[in-house]
Amino acid sequence: MEIKTVGVVGAGTMGNGIAHVFARSGYDVILCDVEQRFLDRALETIAKNLDREVAKNKIAASDKSAALGRIQPVTDRAKLAACDFVVEAATEKFEIKTEIFRDLDRLTRREIILASNTSSISITKLAAVTKRPEKVIGMHFFNPVPMMKLVEVIRGLATSDETFSETRDLSLKLDKTPVEVNDAPGFVSNRVLMPLLNEAMYAVMEGVATPEAVDEVFKLGMAHPMGPLTLADFIGLDVCLDIMRVLQSGLGDPKYRPCPLLVKMVDAGWLGRKSGRGFYKY
Ligand code: NAD
Repeated sequence: MEIKTVGVVGAGTMGNGIAHVFARSGYDVILCDVEQRFLDRALETIAKNLDREVAKNKIAASDKSAALGRIQPVTDRAKLAACDFVVEAATEKFEIKTEIFRDLDRLTRREIILASNTSSISITKLAAVTKRPEKVIGMHFFNPVPMMKLVEVIRGLATSDETFSETRDLSLKLDKTPVEVNDAPGFVSNRVLMPLLNEAMYAVMEGVATPEAVDEVFKLGMAHPMGPLTLADFIGLDVCLDIMRVLQSGLGDPKYRPCPLLVKMVDAGWLGRKSGRGFYKY
């Protein structure tokens, strides 16, 4: 089956980026969120990001208007019935995602693939709430989606080889690089990244070095574009804490214990860049 129309559920940070890359690659996109204002905000962001690509000569001005013209914003989820593939990028809450997957299973054609952009929820569990577990897969994009090449393609326990290969091929059509990963807490990206950020926080808490010094070590010594504490502030300290807890409970190893300084900062409402204060002040 040829994929022409793609549904994107959730028009936040990731959903608008995912809609952007599908529309830029020529797919019709049905972008769904719970309120019109979230859709308006997403379309504004997409237009601004497309403008940036025009300014950098990555695309022509006519490509921008064509891409925007391919995105249909909807608050009525039933409109997703027309889709040939759906990516869910709604709020990272198990109850929200299971409700969406149950409904997508009911609304869409039996043969289409339902993908989730979740960072930490089990693909196997999301698949289990549908009657098509072999058609459920993780399609984990990275922020900012139009710029980051990686898509972690996550196979749940029941995901079929056909579903995997269709999702891999679709990622390639978006000019992304898919990497195959099996379903496990944190997949590969967060399983390896978050303990690094958490350990950097321990180094600060124990007075080994200042946040600035830890970040300099990683920028200059390991050629990371951004130090681990700057990155944690960018991701959001609440998100980092949630992911450490997923690793801790899912893997059961004490090495995933969230740094007590991280817990304290989140308790204080110091969530990083978005709240104006984290390891740095903004
Ligand atoms: P966000 O808060 O920016 O956006 C979530 C959007 O989902 C909101 O607009 C919200 O209104 C919408 N939403 C909530 N319930 C919905 C429903 N029932 N139907 C339709 N829309 C609904 O969050 P985000 O950062 O874009 O994250 C979305 C997903 O992507 C999460 O699963 C997250 O783990 C994952 N993710 C995030 C990042 C990142 O860096 N932000 C990276 C990779 C993956």
